[in-house]
Amino acid sequence: MLSQNFVRGLCSRSRPLGASSSTLLRHFGAGSSSDDCSDDGSGAKGWIPDCSLDTHVVHGGVTPCEKTGAILTPVYMSTTFVQESVEKYLEKGYSYSRTNNPTVKQLEEKVAAIENGYDSVCVGTGMAATATCINTFMKAGDHCVITNCSYGGTNRICREQFMKLGMEFSFVDFADPANVEAAIRPNTTLIFSESPTNPMLTLADLDAISAISKKHGLVHVCDSTFATPYVCRPMDHGVDLTIQSLTKYYDGLNIGTGGALIASTPELYEKIKLTQNMHGNIMSPMTAFLILQTMKTMGLRVRRQSESAMKIATFLEGHPQVSKVVYPGLDSHPQKELADRQHRDNLHGGMLWFDVKGDPITLMDTIKRPWTLCENLGATESIITACAVMTHANMVREDRLAVGITDGFIRISVGVEDADDLIRGLDEALSGL
Ligand code: PLP
Repeated sequence: MLSQNFVRGLCSRSRPLGASSSTLLRHFGAGSSSDDCSDDGSGAKGWIPDCSLDTHVVHGGVTPCEKTGAILTPVYMSTTFVQESVEKYLEKGYSYSRTNNPTVKQLEEKVAAIENGYDSVCVGTGMAATATCINTFMKAGDHCVITNCSYGGTNRICREQFMKLGMEFSFVDFADPANVEAAIRPNTTLIFSESPTNPMLTLADLDAISAISKKHGLVHVCDSTFATPYVCRPMDHGVDLTIQSLTKYYDGLNIGTGGALIASTPELYEKIKLTQNMHGNIMSPMTAFLILQTMKTMGLRVRRQSESAMKIATFLEGHPQVSKVVYPGLDSHPQKELADRQHRDNLHGGMLWFDVKGDPITLMDTIKRPWTLCENLGATESIITACAVMTHANMVREDRLAVGITDGFIRISVGVEDADDLIRGLDEALSGL
C-alpha cells in the first residue's frame, strides 16, 4: 500500500533528503495501515488501502502540486536552490543539483518503491549504475563473484577497468548457486548476479544466492534489467541492491537513457549516494521527468510483451528453420521450475533468442517491418539482432561460442505491436532462407 512519504507529492515534501523515511520500506503489502496516506495531498478522502503495483506505478510518489494543481511533477531545471538563512540551510531539502534535484529525487523514490527498496540513485545510464555499485563496494585487493554470462558492458568494465585497478573478479556460472559459494574467497566483498542474463536468458536463484551472501556477510547486487519489477523484484528474494537500466523497460519508448541503483537499507543507500555525489554521476531533470511519465505504462507494456514473446517463442519452436528457442516461459527452458517460482504473475518478459539454421545476415536483410534492426531492447518497437554479426561482432569467435552465442544466434526484443503481425514477418523471412 501507499506509504505516507511515497504518495506525498513534491510540493508537499517535508522530510529532508538524504534521510529517507523508513516508510519507504513499506510497499505492496508489507505492513501498512489504512491511515498511511493521511498526509498525501488527497484531502479528507485519502487512498484506498492495499493498492497494487499497477496503481503505484501510476501514482506513487506523485500528487498534484499544492500551488497550481499540476498533475505531473514539474521539471526543476535549476542548478542551485536558494537558502533562507544559514540556520535554515537544507530546510527544503535541496542545495545543489549534483547532490539532489527535486525532479530526479521523485524518480529515485518512485523507482525504489516500485522495486521494494529503501531509496535509489538515478544516473545517466545502466552502465553508470553498475559502475557506481562496484566503485562503492570494492577497492583494490577486493574480490567479486560475478556471473560469467552478464551483459557484455558489465563484463568489459570489470576486465578493462576494475581489474586493471587491482580488483579481482571470478566469472562463474550462476545457474548453480553452489558455484557462487565455491568461488568466495577471504577478500570477497560483492556478489554480482544478473537475472535473466543478456543475451542467454539464464536465471540466477536469487533466494539461494542471497542466503549464501548473507551467510558470508557479503553484499549481493542483481542486475534485473531484463526482468523489470513486473517479472521479478530481486529485493523480494533477499537481494541487497538492484540495478536497472532505465533505458530499457522503464523508459520503454526509446526516448531516454538512464540507470538506477536501488538500495534495500539506509546504510547501503548512504554509501551509494556518496559515490554518486563524488562522481557527479547524475541524471538530467528532463530525463527524469520523461521516465516518470513513460514508466507509468510499464505494466501494460511488459504484460503485452510477455504474452507476445510466449506466442512468438512457441511459433519459433515449431519452425523448420529454427534449431533452438530459449524463453523462460517455455517448458523447454532448462530453468523452467525456477522461472515459475521466481517470476511474478506467470510473466517472463519480452526477451527471447533462437538459433537460425540458415544465414543470419540474410534473415536480417530480408525481414520486413514492423521488425527493426537495432541494438536497444525493452521498448515498444520490436527489435531483432543477429548477435554474432552485430552486438557481439568484436568478440573472438571461440570466446563467443564458449558463452553460447552461436553464429546463428538471433536475439529478439518483443515490442507491443500485434503478435500475429510479428509472427507473419518472422515466418516470411525464415521461410525465404
Ligand atoms: N544491464 C543489462 C542487462 C543490459 O542489457 C544493459 C544494456 O543493454 C545494461 C545493463 C546497460 O544499460 P545502458 O545501456 O543503459 O547503460
